[in-house]
Amino acid sequence: MSEIIVPQNFENKTADAVVIGGGIVGASTAFWLSKAGMSVILVEKRDGLSTLTTAASVECFRTQFTEKSMADLVLPSVEMFENFKDVVNIPDIDIGITQKGYLFVTDDPDMVPDLEKALKRYNELGVPGSELIIGDDLQKRFPFLAPQALAATFNNRDGWISTHETTYGFAKGSKNASFFTKTKVTGLQIDGKGICGVETDKGIIQTRLVVNCAGPYAGVIGKMAGIDIPLRTVRRQKAYIRTSYKNLPSDAPFTVDLVNHSYWRPEAGGVLCAWVNPDEPESAPADDIATDWDFAAESIHRASRLNPFFETVADNLKAEDIDISAGQYVYTLDDKPIIGPIDEIEGLYMNCGHWCGVMMSPAAGKRVADIATGKMNNKNNPLRYSRFKEGDFEKGDTFLK
Ligand SMILES: Cc1cc2nc3c(=O)[nH]c(=O)nc-3n(C[C@H](O)[C@H](O)[C@H](O)COP(=O)(O)OP(=O)(O)OC[C@H]3O[C@@H](n4cnc5c(N)ncnc54)[C@H](O)[C@@H]3O)c2cc1C
Repeated sequence: MSEIIVPQNFENKTADAVVIGGGIVGASTAFWLSKAGMSVILVEKRDGLSTLTTAASVECFRTQFTEKSMADLVLPSVEMFENFKDVVNIPDIDIGITQKGYLFVTDDPDMVPDLEKALKRYNELGVPGSELIIGDDLQKRFPFLAPQALAATFNNRDGWISTHETTYGFAKGSKNASFFTKTKVTGLQIDGKGICGVETDKGIIQTRLVVNCAGPYAGVIGKMAGIDIPLRTVRRQKAYIRTSYKNLPSDAPFTVDLVNHSYWRPEAGGVLCAWVNPDEPESAPADDIATDWDFAAESIHRASRLNPFFETVADNLKAEDIDISAGQYVYTLDDKPIIGPIDEIEGLYMNCGHWCGVMMSPAAGKRVADIATGKMNNKNNPLRYSRFKEGDFEKGDTFLK
């Protein structure tokens, strides 16, 4: 069992590996490195694990990806969510897994070929259980949808989890690992052989392996090693809406309007609702992200187009029923994460550049450990950092990124 502690100042500590960042990606990485037999220290600057981007997320996962490198990461991740007790070897852990599916809906006839193409791609990639649902069938199966809803892809294996329980599950299931909260990384030490230490505001940790899981701050950590990682951080918001509306479709899947980029899903006591603004500008990495006063109204307005029950929900809303929060998606040049070592500095690894890092976290952490222990050759890792300088990357056409 691991320890989650606020350390006193220390002169010198040593670990086989240091993980920077205690979000869901860092916790998974620490878990897999420790499972591979390494002594691990994870350092998190905030008061607790899972308190920055991971806490801001809507906690969903989906198998429906059209890019092979993403499908290859998410499929084993979903399997690990489904078998989480066995993965972390904690019989009474409950990560609240809910599998009601992801429904990508359109009412635009011109989009139907895109849905057909996506379904074909899911089948080619071996994503099991994906369906294309058209016309009357759509209303029959999802009666909450507006009559003009025309077509959707759906996979009922998709769903959501508690990210807090999952992050702490990885931490508690780690062996020979310490999780230092309230400990900020301030520098990286490098000698002739590569990485040799991590400087923190509590002291120095000597190590030959560092994994950058700093979420929106991954670029800042990269600069500490003189590396300019091509990352963009972009604000994303969500609204929790408390409602006692009695006809709320509380069994609904995570439902996305592909035309206006809005989405919603049931949540205890109400719904989560949001929209992804494709024109949202890049913003500097930050802990406190301001929200827009009208974000909930705009999200409800957009969601009500294909989910008309939102109009009734909106009619009865009071200001205190709405809670808006925000975090930052991190994008790379091809909108896929960076996982594994970098050639420039021996011992420096990345697990960053995630815009959907919750759902990728189990397999992303495992891949870091597999490469570090020689189980996987980084050349066979399509998400390696060197793909950018090799020019071996391209943007995909996955929905709603
Ligand atoms: C509104 C919204 C909805 C989302 N919905 C989903 C979703 O449904 N599904 C999904 O898969 N993803 C979703 N995401 C994205 C997802 O939340 C992130 O990709 C994921 O949480 C990234 O996890 P992480 O561990 O890399 O980052 P974080 O959770 O941000 O963790 C990084 C940690 O590093 C720490 N850190 C940074 N710098 C330092 C330092 N110098 N020293 C020590 N510690 C440091 C930070 O304090 C932070 O705790 C959503 C994001 C948002 C904003």
